[in-house]
Amino acid sequence: MRIAVVGAGINGVMSAWALARRGHEVELFERGEPMAGTSSASTKLLHGGLRYLETGDIALVREGLRERAWWLEQAPRFAHPLELLLPVVRGRGRPRWMVKAGLVLYDRLSGSRLLARHRWLGRDETLARLPGLRPEGLQGAYAFWDGQMDDRALGLWALEQARAAGVRLRARCEVLRIGADGSMTVAGDSAASGDAAPDRELRFDAVCNLAGPGAALLLERSGLPSAHRLRLVRGSHLLVDGALPCGLLVQAPADGRVCFILPYAGRVMIGTTEVEQAAGAPVAPSDAERDYLLDVWNATFEDRLSAADVRTSFAGVRPLLAEAGDANENTRGHAIERHGRVLTVFGGKWTTSRSLGEEVAALVG
Ligand SMILES: Cc1cc2nc3c(=O)[nH]c(=O)nc-3n(C[C@H](O)[C@H](O)[C@H](O)COP(=O)(O)OP(=O)(O)OC[C@H]3O[C@@H](n4cnc5c(N)ncnc54)[C@H](O)[C@@H]3O)c2cc1C
Repeated sequence: MRIAVVGAGINGVMSAWALARRGHEVELFERGEPMAGTSSASTKLLHGGLRYLETGDIALVREGLRERAWWLEQAPRFAHPLELLLPVVRGRGRPRWMVKAGLVLYDRLSGSRLLARHRWLGRDETLARLPGLRPEGLQGAYAFWDGQMDDRALGLWALEQARAAGVRLRARCEVLRIGADGSMTVAGDSAASGDAAPDRELRFDAVCNLAGPGAALLLERSGLPSAHRLRLVRGSHLLVDGALPCGLLVQAPADGRVCFILPYAGRVMIGTTEVEQAAGAPVAPSDAERDYLLDVWNATFEDRLSAADVRTSFAGVRPLLAEAGDANENTRGHAIERHGRVLTVFGGKWTTSRSLGEEVAALVG
């Protein structure tokens, strides 16, 4: 079959690759450059998502842990195991027994023995590991393992595999409309001709809409009514100078949300936030998000950081299925909807993009 995939973020790339492996002729349309959207602005973790255990998303966590192992095995140049500490502080955050229960389950669900199991570090060992950690009320920390990736490089590696399997990439080619009959209108390539080129009409046996945060908008522009709604939620990260021997999972002092302080690319990365992204607004960290993340650091370490210490920052937009009240409760799972020859994916995580791609390919047939 001739199949069009819209969106060269990680979900589009992995779907295109899975479709090509099944023998389909696949064209991958991307309005900008591949892997330049949400997929290169993540927290860079290949994980099951320890905190989703609290919302009972056991299947999602198990799937994420299985996929974490796949990425670590397939692309060790761009993904590696990362040790994370989860400090337990008296009177603040989750009690020790609850953290322990979560980690026992996390280890069980991971199945594979690729990464070490969690262990308890006493207060002295924790402070020796992370000098400068605030000692007030510190009881110790649980150490556990997840995967860390260079999301852009890993996604481009996956794209290379997809191209080797026959996927043809059409970069800087915006899809304006898709039809339930497999029709598609793409914007004319004015950059190539120098003039405003006319839009082009194409036809495929199937169209897979994997435009991430743009998926719902594409359906709307195409006049295809949807049963799902996406909430667009921005997440920001800061990079500051420094080095850490491992990552940290902590609670934000402002609202108790889980945040990460991670070693990344020779610096320290602090993230992330969750704020509604208004349509058309720039995807960039606000001053309020910056201050929120600096507070996360300042509540964790003794040496204080201020805005002047921020070397760089970035933001991405999560395409979350709109089902619960606030962004923190929204499911990180996905939904797939069909309109005739069009399949649209709503939501989805980076880590689980391979299994999502397989699901898309199986549905296309
Ligand atoms: C702050 C933050 C942190 C995260 N951290 C993690 C993490 O640590 N681990 C994890 O597993 N997940 C994480 N996620 C989730 C994960 O990053 C996303 O779910 C995933 O990257 C989404 O990929 P995607 O391919 O669906 O979307 P995108 O990467 O946004 O790709 C969609 C592509 O479609 C293109 N497009 C849109 N409309 C059109 C059109 N009309 N025509 C042509 N092209 C179009 C866009 O240009 C874009 O390149 C995080 C998300 C955020 C925001």
